[in-house]
Order: sequence, then C-alpha cells, then structure tokens
Amino acid sequence: MIKKKIIFNLPKLAGNELKNFNSLNKYNHYSSNGYFTKKCKSWLIKNIKCKDAILVNSCTAALEISAILIDIKPGDEVIMPSYTFVSTANAFVLRGAKIIFIDLDKETLNMNINLIEKNITKKTKAIVTVHYAGISVDLDKIVKIAKKNKLFLIEDAAQAILSKYKDRYLGTFGDLATFSFHETKNIHCGEGGALLINNKKFIKRASIIKDKGTNRNDFNKKLVKKYYWVDLGSSYGLNEINASFLYSQLISAKKINNSRLKIWKFYYRQFKHFESEKKMLLPFIPNYSHFNGHIFYIIVKKDIRNRLLNFLNKNYVMALFHYVPLHNSPFGKIASKKRYNLELTDLKSNSIIRMPLHLSIKKSDIIKIKKLMIKFFSQEGSKALL
Ligand SMILES: *Cc1c(COP(=O)(O)O)cnc(C)c1O
Repeated sequence: MIKKKIIFNLPKLAGNELKNFNSLNKYNHYSSNGYFTKKCKSWLIKNIKCKDAILVNSCTAALEISAILIDIKPGDEVIMPSYTFVSTANAFVLRGAKIIFIDLDKETLNMNINLIEKNITKKTKAIVTVHYAGISVDLDKIVKIAKKNKLFLIEDAAQAILSKYKDRYLGTFGDLATFSFHETKNIHCGEGGALLINNKKFIKRASIIKDKGTNRNDFNKKLVKKYYWVDLGSSYGLNEINASFLYSQLISAKKINNSRLKIWKFYYRQFKHFESEKKMLLPFIPNYSHFNGHIFYIIVKKDIRNRLLNFLNKNYVMALFHYVPLHNSPFGKIASKKRYNLELTDLKSNSIIRMPLHLSIKKSDIIKIKKLMIKFFSQEGSKALL
C-alpha cells in the first residue's frame, strides 16, 4: 500500500481566480496598474487601514523599494532579527547597508526589542521588525524606540496579513510595511507582494521607484504628456494576471485566515499535553497579539530535533525546520562584517519544527501526527525532556 503524504503546504484557489483571469480580455490590459491591481490596492487601504498601498511582484521587491525610499547609503546601519528570511537583509545590503543582527526574545520567535537601543549608533538609519508566524512584537515599545532615536521603522509583515497588535492591523505601525503573496503564505497569487505606506512623504516616490524610476503614474493620470526617467527604480510592479488571481484571494482573506486558525487551534489542543509533559514548547501568543494562524510550530529539545524530523518525514509527515539564522550564513557574515553570538537564535533555530498547515489538512491527519509523536517520545524516553 502506498501511504498518503501529509504535505507541508498546499496552495489553494479561493474561488474566483479563474473567472477573474477570464475577464481580463475585457480590459485588454495585462501589465501592472490595471483594473485588478486597483481593486487589490483599494482592498488593502480599506481593510488594513494603511495610508497607501502599492502592489509589487514580491515582498522582496517591497523591501527593496523601502531601502531606496529611506535613502540607504553605504555604511548606514539597519537593525533587524537574524532569524528571518534573506530578503529582509538583502534589500538593505543591496544599497550598501551594514546589518546589525538582534537575538530572539525568550518567549516568541521575534527579536528581543530590549536589545535594540544598545545597538543604535550614529550610523543607524532604520529598524526592521519581522512578525514571525504572523505574531507581532510589542509595537508600542518599538514605535517609541524608533521615534525617540529618529529612526525609520519598517515592518516585514510578509507572514502577517490581517494579524493585529491590540486592535490595529500589522502593517500600519511602520513608516513602511511589506506583505508577501508567495504561494507559501496565507493569501497568495503564486508570487506577489505589497508595500504599505503609512508615512505620507513616501507615497509619490514609491510609485516612481516601482515604475522603473519613471513618472509613468503621472502619465497614466494624464498629468504629464510624456513619461521619463526621474529617479532610481526597477521593474517592481505586479502584473494584472497575478492581480486578478490575488483579488479573489483578498476578498476571501478573512475566511481563509479563520480556517487556518481553526486548524492551528486543533493542533494546539491536541499537542497541549506534550507541553505539560515537558516534551515540547508550543507557540506563545502575547496578550496584545491577535494572529492569523500562519505557522504552527513546536520547540523540542535540540538534541532530538533532527531525529524527530526524520521520523516524521519517514512516516510521510512533511514537517520542516525553518531559517538558517542570517548571522550564521556565509553571506550574512559578510553583510554584518562581524561575528555574532546570538544564543537564543542558535538554540531556537535548532529546536523548531513546523507542522503541515493548509486548508486541506483534516483533523484525522493531525491525530495521526499526534500518534506518531507519542510513539517517537516513548522510544526516546527521558532523552526527549526539555
Ligand atoms: C516570505 C518572506 C519574505 C519574502 O517574500 P517573497 O514574496 O517571496 O519575496 C520576506 N520576509 C519574510 C519574513 C518572509 O516570510
């Protein structure tokens, strides 16, 4: 008998993607800045309540635009967690910045914001905060630090669409914020992203940078007769084919997140006793954080993590680990020009397992995973205790 794999991620259609795509021949517009791009933009502004939003071809692109917008120059320093995706750092390194990596806090997989201030120097230009798994950092505190030290705050909210800090959506706290619509995220269009703008001074220039450094946007609005090269820029826009797909996902976003959250909570209830038995730690959700069920992860003893992963994979459960911390990666060492000792980042990155989570996961799959874990832990005995 061939056993059915419980796969890690299964990107799904929300319903109207193909219908929207078929309607494109009505508009005869397939590049960026078309009908569906405008619909997606309005949806973001209305629902997330940011001042402006531009649709781009990835979260990576949105981060690169951010680095250009805040005028990063060679030698400027940018503070961020080491435990993040490479794009968070790459965008600023491309403009010559030196990256200052911050360790994780004790409870979540977000950076320890108490370590930020002692890392601020005359060269510091910005703080980039990542909301890992869609769970926010203490934004009141981080906004205060940024204001007091006159630094730009950028939220890499790639994983955090419709997550909240207290009663406000993530992506509305930074001068700039970024979303990802990669197929691995809650809401997707294959690949895509958005730049959210909360500091009004960036609105005009952001669309110029997105449109290859031209004033194409003014031309589209018939404000100028020709468009030409006015600033730095690149080809960052999202095409209409992807935007037509994305719009269908966005209007179902709250429903999609609720379904993910239900699965997340089922995992949590099923695994709770492992935590009481000191075999694992479950995710900690601070009181101020209302999150979107992006990732269900567990933290187990470092010494058994790889064995448990292999055991699950061998039994057709496609669980995964996550980032190799940037400060330990070959290019991270060059970009930070320094050797780091980030104890909690090292420990947690070697202890994490992410469980399969997507809309086709069934309760029976999760119970199957739980039974496998019970079997594994009984084989390991006291070696598995935290
Ligand atoms: C996924 C992700 C990105 C990159 O998103 P793309 O849309 O693939 O460019 C950046 N930062 C974080 C934290 C992510 O999770």
